[in-house]
Amino acid sequence: MTKRASNLTRRRFLASGAVGVASITALVALSACRKRQFSCNSTNGLSPEDVDVRKRLFYSDTSSDPQKTCASCQHYVPAPAGECGGCKLIKGPIHPQGYCKSYVPQI
Ligand code: SF4
Repeated sequence: MTKRASNLTRRRFLASGAVGVASITALVALSACRKRQFSCNSTNGLSPEDVDVRKRLFYSDTSSDPQKTCASCQHYVPAPAGECGGCKLIKGPIHPQGYCKSYVPQI
């Protein structure tokens, strides 16, 4: 192998390594992004009555008013960041950015 061919091979090797590192970084960032966007809409294990309460109070994982979210409601039971919390009125998982008709701001 000539010295020039050896340099080309080394450059290609280093370039492919840089692409690999960039790809891994992008995957880690995507994974972190997905972790933030979690859902708390599962009603698995709830009784039909409990599911009905969620519906009647129009529980949603999102709030149309960023100032009125479950995280700032008196009835919210917090959980670690990135996980569904609970509610003293509604059974099942509750999203900190969620909302329902029974919202009461914390004092
Ligand atoms: Fe969220 Fe409604 Fe429970 Fe308040 S009462 S924490 S707004 S689900």
